[in-house]
Amino acid sequence: SNFADLGLSSSALAAVDRLGYEQPTPVQEQAIPLVLEGRDLIAAASTGTGKTAAFLLPTLSTLPRGTRGKRAPRVLVVSPTRELAQQIARTCMQIARKTGHFVTTVFGGTPYGPQINEIRRGTDVLIATPGRLNDLMERDVVDLGRIEVLVLDEADRMLDMGFLPAVTTIVDATPAERQTLLFSATIDRSIEKNLGSLLNDPAIVEI
Ligand code: AMP
Repeated sequence: SNFADLGLSSSALAAVDRLGYEQPTPVQEQAIPLVLEGRDLIAAASTGTGKTAAFLLPTLSTLPRGTRGKRAPRVLVVSPTRELAQQIARTCMQIARKTGHFVTTVFGGTPYGPQINEIRRGTDVLIATPGRLNDLMERDVVDLGRIEVLVLDEADRMLDMGFLPAVTTIVDATPAERQTLLFSATIDRSIEKNLGSLLNDPAIVEI
């Protein structure tokens, strides 16, 4: 199949062109139409499958573009490590250049000041590691009350790294009526037991 057949907006298709992707990967082919329908999703997909674009393209495709101001983020991507967060941010900024959204990334191991300033300037998409996001929530810097789409990326690694309490605090700060997308290399009992209740009638994507 073809990216043009998946229901993406013209600006999201322009982003696909910019990224140089010619054909959707299997996880993109399956996930993009479901995300555009507004479904919650559990996707078994590891790094290298194209999962990042599988959640970013449909999410930004339908998100009204913002004007910078005192806006709270509407899309939140939670990722276990700084490296992964930065990787997601690179793809996201390339897409956002076409869709017209603002993207902010926060992770540990760097000073708070610049990240705080950037959140205060307003953003559409926030990409975060769990620990730093919890710190920023405690400092009252970030308002998750307007999140429409929550992405939990590499959920199995987040549990392995002991982030369940931090992730739970984050999820509890988002609206209950959000759309939730969970990506994980493996979907096992631990994922279902600890995170399954965060999803509402999820579609299952396995590649
Ligand atoms: P990910 O699994 O999201 O980490 O992506 C792995 C790599 O595949 C990244 O370098 C992407 O830029 C690339 N990629 C993602 N989707 C496609 C696609 N449809 N065609 C070609 N490359 C892709």
